[in-house]
Amino acid sequence: MTQGDPTSSKSPPVNRLPIRPAQDTPGSKPIAFVHVDLDNLWALAECYGFDVEPAQGNFLYSDAFPRLRALLDDVGVPATFFALGRDARDQNNRRQLAAVAAAGHALANHSDSHSLDFRHLNEAALEREVALAEQSLADIVGKPPVGFRAPGYGRSPGLLRVLVRRGYRYDSSLMPSPFGPVLRLLDWRLRRRTPRGRVIRKAQFPRVSDTWNPRAPHPVRMPDGGSILEIPTAVSPLLRLPFQASVCMILGRAYFEVNLAASIARRVPFVFLMHLADIADFRALDHPFFRGNTFFEGSAAAKTATLRHFLERLASTCRVLLTEDWLGQFEPPPDSPPVP
Ligand SMILES: [Zn+2]
Repeated sequence: MTQGDPTSSKSPPVNRLPIRPAQDTPGSKPIAFVHVDLDNLWALAECYGFDVEPAQGNFLYSDAFPRLRALLDDVGVPATFFALGRDARDQNNRRQLAAVAAAGHALANHSDSHSLDFRHLNEAALEREVALAEQSLADIVGKPPVGFRAPGYGRSPGLLRVLVRRGYRYDSSLMPSPFGPVLRLLDWRLRRRTPRGRVIRKAQFPRVSDTWNPRAPHPVRMPDGGSILEIPTAVSPLLRLPFQASVCMILGRAYFEVNLAASIARRVPFVFLMHLADIADFRALDHPFFRGNTFFEGSAAAKTATLRHFLERLASTCRVLLTEDWLGQFEPPPDSPPVP
């Protein structure tokens, strides 16, 4: 029912002109965006095939979300939170999402159900995924989100058509990296720890064709009219290794510094992506899936200190702006179509 769109394997047509906002003049600090994917524990359980008690499914909203909000507010950087519609309909979660929006952060759409095969959903299913989450977020803040990130970086032409049709201003589903196979191998090693995980079929992480897209924000023109701004998640120069919080936590502060320096040198706006799992206290959850894994098992205090270091370095070397605010000052290059 949800598969078989024959157009979904084609790459969207891309205007390859990089974009520099007029304000990013030589000497000024480059622009960085902090994005947070609010994947909850139930979504991780589906992704890796482990079981959770119903009461545990919301663990990352109850444990990690308040800790991350406090850290962001302490460092003083704004962030865009990409929420799942299913979570945004829970009363306690609604209060948390309303609170971050009231504090000056932004909410964006991360789909309704976090489908493991999002890239291959047909257009009607994509429309449902986008619309249901959109309505749930609009119910909280009184207006629909303008940004979207697909689960598993699963961008497709059908998705971009849906987003353009629904008036979205940007998509941030693209990870222009050739390391999809490596990420899939690491994913498989995690799933192998669970009986159900061994048999899960899914389409996560970038495809080889995603590699050849620009790393800078760029408009994507649709063949049947309209366009949308693609704001890729950050990758390193040359090798295009993912430059996001979890990878930096695993590979260390030197990896973060090298990628930060490279991103600053390029002087184009970039997305630093975080996940709730990056700051979760999995020791408190005491679930067998997370035991014995050095990334998950670190103390919440140590994770918070590492993330604080990353955010403070971003704040001191870049202008960390809310993507939603930056859209108002963004100017496309003269020969590109206007961005909706
Ligand atoms: Zn996600």
